[in-house]
Amino acid sequence: MSLDEIPNQIKVSLGRRGFDPINPKQCSKCGNPNQSRLKLLEKIEQDKVTHEKGEKRTIDYKIQCLNCQNIFYIRLQHLIHYQDDEEKRVTTKVNILDENKNDLGWLGNY
Ligand SMILES: [Zn+2]
Repeated sequence: MSLDEIPNQIKVSLGRRGFDPINPKQCSKCGNPNQSRLKLLEKIEQDKVTHEKGEKRTIDYKIQCLNCQNIFYIRLQHLIHYQDDEEKRVTTKVNILDENKNDLGWLGNY
């Protein structure tokens, strides 16, 4: 497991101004974006949810900031769409959760 599994840039909706790329890998408390100071503690893959036309895979990355000791999660939700017997990734939603898994909000997509 590695922080490399999380993209360095995701798209954040700015409403009418379109999309802006941001780095999702930064501390939710102190804003530290230095990946050598962010420690990946655990990768938790949740049961995938399937439906007729596709599925959703949720993966939580538990991360500790070595600057302020804050623990938070980056949650990736991969939305897969089945098409002609093939799997096609439609989008991935990125959310940030605090240590107690309270959702701090939807960050963006990639
Ligand atoms: Zn921090």
